[in-house]
Amino acid sequence: MLDQDHFSSYAMGHWLRSDSSGRQVRSAVTGETLGVLGGVPDVAAMRDYAKSHGGPALRALNFHDRARMLKALALHLKAHRKALYDLSFLTGATLADSQIDIDGGIGTLLVYASKGRREMPEGFVLPDGELEVLSRDGSFLGQHVLTPRQGISLQINAFNFPVWGMLEKLAPSLLAGVPSLVKPASDTGYLTQAVVRLIADSGILPDGALQLIMGATGDLLDCLDAQDTVGFTGSAATAMALRSRPSLLQNAVRFTSEQDSLNGSVLGPDIEPGSAEFDLFITEVHREMTTKAGQKCTAIRRIMVPEAHLQAVTAALSERLAATKIGHPAQKETQMGALVSQAQREDVRGKLQLLAGECDVVFGDAQHCVVSGADAKEGAFMSPVLLNCPDPDAAKTVHEIEAFGPVSTVMAYRDVPHAISLLNKGGGSLVASVITHDPQVARQVVLGAGAFHGRLYFNDRVSQAESTGHGAPLPHMVHGGPGRAGGSEELGGLRGVKHFMQRSAIQGSPDMLSAITGIWVTGAAEHVGPAHPFTRSFDALQIGETLHTAAREVTLADIEHFAEFTGDRFYAHMDAEAAKANPFFPDRVAHGYLLLSFAAGLFVEPSPGPVLANTGLNALSFQKPVVAGDCISVQLTVKRKTRRTEAYGEVRWHVALRNQDRDLVAEYELLTMNSYGETKGA
Ligand code: NDP
Repeated sequence: MLDQDHFSSYAMGHWLRSDSSGRQVRSAVTGETLGVLGGVPDVAAMRDYAKSHGGPALRALNFHDRARMLKALALHLKAHRKALYDLSFLTGATLADSQIDIDGGIGTLLVYASKGRREMPEGFVLPDGELEVLSRDGSFLGQHVLTPRQGISLQINAFNFPVWGMLEKLAPSLLAGVPSLVKPASDTGYLTQAVVRLIADSGILPDGALQLIMGATGDLLDCLDAQDTVGFTGSAATAMALRSRPSLLQNAVRFTSEQDSLNGSVLGPDIEPGSAEFDLFITEVHREMTTKAGQKCTAIRRIMVPEAHLQAVTAALSERLAATKIGHPAQKETQMGALVSQAQREDVRGKLQLLAGECDVVFGDAQHCVVSGADAKEGAFMSPVLLNCPDPDAAKTVHEIEAFGPVSTVMAYRDVPHAISLLNKGGGSLVASVITHDPQVARQVVLGAGAFHGRLYFNDRVSQAESTGHGAPLPHMVHGGPGRAGGSEELGGLRGVKHFMQRSAIQGSPDMLSAITGIWVTGAAEHVGPAHPFTRSFDALQIGETLHTAAREVTLADIEHFAEFTGDRFYAHMDAEAAKANPFFPDRVAHGYLLLSFAAGLFVEPSPGPVLANTGLNALSFQKPVVAGDCISVQLTVKRKTRRTEAYGEVRWHVALRNQDRDLVAEYELLTMNSYGETKGA
């Protein structure tokens, strides 16, 4: 039994116990009362606190500082997982379910921590896309940039993933630099609260970066303005009620919604019973019906199979469902736990009645089930139910009503276009999967059903061992879907971070853009350092610091020597007649790789020093051919610096090769790892 401390909001750095005026929260397993949620904290003051404390403190950190913070949070939560699993059993979740929720949430933090360090600058402004040259001489440029929105991220979460549901929104929001107010669903909020308590006690986040509202949100939504975002997960009906509030519309508050969707899975027309893919299909569908007792936003609700295999699929699935052990979630042998509450079970039973007009039950009984280690009546246990829809073209309910539990419907399709039309009847879904070994089927489905789905998942014997599962949203990939699924996107790597930021089109001179982004751009001021840049430590190097090398003539002997040495005897370098017949070349030309090698020979300072390694080269382009007798020289400019480890950081250099007429012949971005250590010879 939890005590009332487990039902407390975290507001302005203090824990406020819910009062006993409100709703009772019960164990999904025993039905006993766990606590009461009542009262509303001063939500307007919480928002002000987030804006006055959390926001400025987060924005004072750069992207990498915030990414390090996410990693520290993840490791802290990982160390306390056991206590969270124990609490999670009360929600009806098995250990495997809890791992999806708790470890999945921690994994999401870790992915964002890593992406923040690898894909974002060590700065405060996130460039978006390429530089746009807006003038003939390059003195007026454009660049889209993103800066953190200066409001709050209000997160209203569903009951089914009390940990992942919070962390998948919190990670990108914190990385963006925006403080969060989290409102978990009442039924399972005590588990969210346990995570918030761990985070608060760790002291890892700045004051005001995370607050928690247990219970009702009062008039918080009406306090929001254009700097705030609302991220909602739950039912379509609640989403509709919340997002259409006049105050939100009037203030253009960004609102993302991830809501119930009628996800489909298709057994490809190329798959025969007894094949690896057939078993895979049955495994995936069974997993989606039983994990979290089917209470998953991505769960497969509609199962589409070729007409010829309807019986085989129904029989194989029924057999697998019959063998599923339902019981107390803490028992090792339990494969499916309880629904979140008796009310949710009643909701599912009610939805089944609506579906009964169009579907026949082919497996399961929603009123009875055998439960091991718990009371089937007191706990919200329920048998999986498999339906068959004999006329999916005429049916409506099966494509519109989501029974949010262990319920799914099999339907037959004639050919791939028919399967696509059935998928799309869902009106927009989070995910559709296709188990096929035929790439042409996959292509057809993407072209026909892509517009209706946020994610399309293909699996076969090749990817099966490493695949992540139909129902698993990954932080790297977009989670969300059009239409019925809410019309929004979450996650998707840095796309999810940008959601909490404002994109602005910046226009100005090269120096302006360089100062704003911390990245040197062509045309911005260059300056010569006190010594060769390769002798200067990471810290000493300045953005824009430039080396102009001496010139070197490229001779025919050089070209021939390089051809012999490397074996690259391409006609453009070796055969004058053939080269001249090519519209790109006036004569035999120097190899591009020869030019790169000569460039390195011109700009490298050979002694041991702070440059530890050359780790790559980006965006190489050859602009003009170099013929024997041309003289090339190099301009090497510090473009961007990023700390990578305790010992060294990455320097990106802009390298430009010019000929004797100052024409650009080649340019690229060179990457080196440089130590922070002593500057030599400066
Ligand atoms: P709801 O839409 O009822 O609730 C979702 C969240 O919104 C909860 O945190 C809820 O809080 C909150 N909420 C409800 N009303 C308000 C309000 N007026 N102001 C502020 N917050 C509000 O979904 P449920 O979690 O109850 O699930 C109901 C159905 O939603 C399921 O049966 C299923 O069909 C669908 N669902 C879909 C999910 C998905 O990811 N696609 C996930 C979960 C559910 P509180 O709990 O305190 O009411």
